Amino acid sequence: MLDGLFKPRSVAIVGASNNPLSIGHIIIQNLVDHDFKGPIYPINPKSKVIKSFKTYPSVGDVPDEIDLVNISIKNSLVPSVLEDCGKKGVKFAIVHTAGFKEVGEEGLALEKQIVEIAHKHGMRIYGPNSQGIQNSDPSVSVYANFTFVPMTPGSISIIAQSGGVGETLKLELHRIGMGIRMYSSFGNEADVSMNEIIDYFGQDEETKAIMLHIETLKDPAGFLEVASRVTKKKPILALKTGKTSEGVAAVASHTGSLLEQDTLSDAIFEKSGVMRFHSQQEMIEAAIAFSTQPIPKSENIVIVTNTGGPAIIAVDECISSGLKLAKLSPDTAKALGELLFSEAIVSNPVDVIATAGAKEYGGAVELLLKDPNIDSLILNFVTPPFVDCEAVAHKLAEIGATAEKPIICIVLTIEEKFGKVIRLIRESGIPVYDFPESASKALTALIKYGQILRRETPEYLEHKADKNKAAEIINRYRGQDRFLPQADVFELLQCYGIPTVKSVRIDTKDDLKAESQKLKYPLVLKVDAEEVVHKSDAGGVCLNLEDEASLLAAFDEMASKFKEHKPGFILQEHLAAATEVIMGAKANAGLGPMLMFGLGGVFVETLKDVQFRLAPLSQQDANGMISSIKGYPILQGARGKKPADIDKLAETLIRLSQLCSDFPEIDEMDLNPVFAFEEGKGVSVVDARLKVANTG
Ligand code: ADP
Ligand code: MG
Repeated sequence: MLDGLFKPRSVAIVGASNNPLSIGHIIIQNLVDHDFKGPIYPINPKSKVIKSFKTYPSVGDVPDEIDLVNISIKNSLVPSVLEDCGKKGVKFAIVHTAGFKEVGEEGLALEKQIVEIAHKHGMRIYGPNSQGIQNSDPSVSVYANFTFVPMTPGSISIIAQSGGVGETLKLELHRIGMGIRMYSSFGNEADVSMNEIIDYFGQDEETKAIMLHIETLKDPAGFLEVASRVTKKKPILALKTGKTSEGVAAVASHTGSLLEQDTLSDAIFEKSGVMRFHSQQEMIEAAIAFSTQPIPKSENIVIVTNTGGPAIIAVDECISSGLKLAKLSPDTAKALGELLFSEAIVSNPVDVIATAGAKEYGGAVELLLKDPNIDSLILNFVTPPFVDCEAVAHKLAEIGATAEKPIICIVLTIEEKFGKVIRLIRESGIPVYDFPESASKALTALIKYGQILRRETPEYLEHKADKNKAAEIINRYRGQDRFLPQADVFELLQCYGIPTVKSVRIDTKDDLKAESQKLKYPLVLKVDAEEVVHKSDAGGVCLNLEDEASLLAAFDEMASKFKEHKPGFILQEHLAAATEVIMGAKANAGLGPMLMFGLGGVFVETLKDVQFRLAPLSQQDANGMISSIKGYPILQGARGKKPADIDKLAETLIRLSQLCSDFPEIDEMDLNPVFAFEEGKGVSVVDARLKVANTG
C-alpha cells in the first residue's frame, strides 16, 4: 500500500534550506505553491525558520507524526538520517540524493545499506536518485518533486523511469491546458518498485490512463503479472527506450539471432495488453484521448469534414491501421441528405462542405452518433472565415459533453484568431489535434485498447506428454552446453506428440544397409555433427536418393567430405513438397521461454518475418503468431495453392510451448524446417537443433 507515499498526511524535508536553488527549498516551494493539505516540516540543524515554516534540527524533534520525508543531502549522510526517520516512525522516505548504485560498487553497497536500515524500521525507500512524486487529488495536492511544471488535476497518471521524459510528458499536457492525476519518477528502484506503483495507480479510480516510460524492466515477470491485471481496468501506454542497452548473449540458433534485444519487451507488452508507442508525442496524443473519451465498441468509424484533403489523409491513416470506414445506415444517409447542402457528399467521409454552419455540421454529428453502424467519429474542421465558427464550436462542445461514442477532432486554424474555437471544443472533453495523422493515431489507440478489452480469455490446452522420458533424454545432456544429436531431439519432440519425419541414426555403412530397409524410398542422407550447423550449405544434405546404389554413393562421398568431424549420419524419408516454416524457442531468465514462428528456409534471418510470444502459449497466442506473419497469405493458399494445415501448426506450437515450459533448461531450439502439408494432412519436423543450458 503506497498511501503514505502518494497521500501523505504530513511531509518533512531533510536538506531544507533558504537557498532557492537547493532541492529542499524547491520542494517546499512546490508544496506551498500547490497548497499541500498537510503540515510541512523543514529539517535543518542550522535554521530556525525556512520560508516561514518552523524548522526542526532533526526528524526526531518534530512533535507530530510524519508520513513522508524528502531527503536531499550528501549520500554519505543518508544512512544516519534514515535511522532517525525509522525511529520516528516515518512511513516513506523519498531519497533524491544521487551517488548510489548508479556510480558503482561503493554506491551499490550504500544503497543496500539504506534499504536495510529502512526495512529494520518498517519504512520504505523511494529512490534513491529519484525525482519524486505528485498527486493532484484536491484532498491531498502533494508536489513532493523538485521540478517545475505546475500541477493541476487531471486523469492521466505518469510513471517515468527518466525524470526528463516524465517532465516532458507533464509539460506537453500542461501546454494544452490539461492536468495530471499522479506522477512518479522513481530513480534506482532500490525498494519501492515500478511494478508496485503501476499496481497502485491501477487501483486509483480517478486515473483513466497510465503513461509509462521504461528504460529497463527490473522485474519482467512481476511487470507481466501487474500489467496484465491493470490493463483489464485501464489502458497502460508505454514508451520503452534504450533498445540497444542490454547485452545480447552469444547465440547459435536462428531463433537466438532473430531475437533482438527489444523483442522480449514487445512480447511482454503483447501478453499483458500494454500498448507500446515509439514516440513521446504519439503516446501523449493517445493519452489525451483516453483521458476523456469512451472506448469504441468496434473498428467502425466515420469521418466528418468540411474540407477534402485532410479527410483523405485521415482515411489513409485509419485504413492502414486496420480501422474500417463504416457504411452509413440508410436512415442516417437519408436524414443527412435532407439536412445538408446539396453539394455535400453523404458517404464516408461525410463532406458537409465549407459553408456548413452549426446547424449542418452539428446536426450531421448528432445523426452520425445515433447510427448503429458507427462506433467512433473523427471530425475535421477547418475554420472558414465566412462561417460562424464559434457557433459550430459551441454546438460540437454541447454534443461532446454527453456523447457516448468517442469523438476526436482536428481543427485546422490560426490560433491567434480562432483560439476560442479550439478551447470551446477542448473544454467539452473532445480532444483537438492539429494534424489528421495525430487524430487518426489517437483514435486507433482507443480502438486497439477496445480490442484488448474484448480479447477472449486465453484458452490453455494441456496435451498428453511423456514427461519422464523427456526428462531422461534431457538429463543425459545436462551441464554439457552443447547441441544434442538430432535423433535425441526427435525423440524428445515425439514425447510431446510433435510429429517428425521418419528417420534413423546411422554410424557406419553397415548400419546404412540394414536401416534403409526400414524406410521408404526416396530417402535423404544428412551429416549429423555438432560443428556442422548449416548442413546443406556444407554439402551435408543429399535429397531424393531413389535407390540403394545412389544412397551408398552419397554416403561414401559424405563420409569422406566430413572425415575430420567423425560424424554420424541421419537417414530420412524424403517428404513430398510442402510449405516450410520455422518454429523456435529461447529461454529467458525469470520468465517463461520465448517461442518463435515464421516462414522457414535459409532466408529466415534476411526476411525476419517471424513472430515471438512468451510461453505458455494459449490457443489465441498460437493462432495470433501464425496469422501475424507477413507471409500468412502463403499459408492460407496464395496463387492457387491449397491452404496449409494451420490448425496443426498452432497445435504444434502449443505442444512446443508445453515442452519448453516443462523444461526451462532448454536454452535454444530451432525446428527448421517444419513441413506444413495441406489442410488436414498435418505437419512434420524435418530438421531440429536443441541446446540444453549448461547451468542447472
Ligand atoms: P540445414 O538446415 O542444416 O541446411 P536441413 O535438414 O534443414 O539442413 O535441410 C535443408 C533443406 O533440405 C530443407 O529446408 C528442405 O527443403 C530439404 N529437406 C531436408 N530434409 C528433407 C526431407 N526429409 N524431405 C524433403 N526435403 C528435405
Ligand atoms: Mg534446417
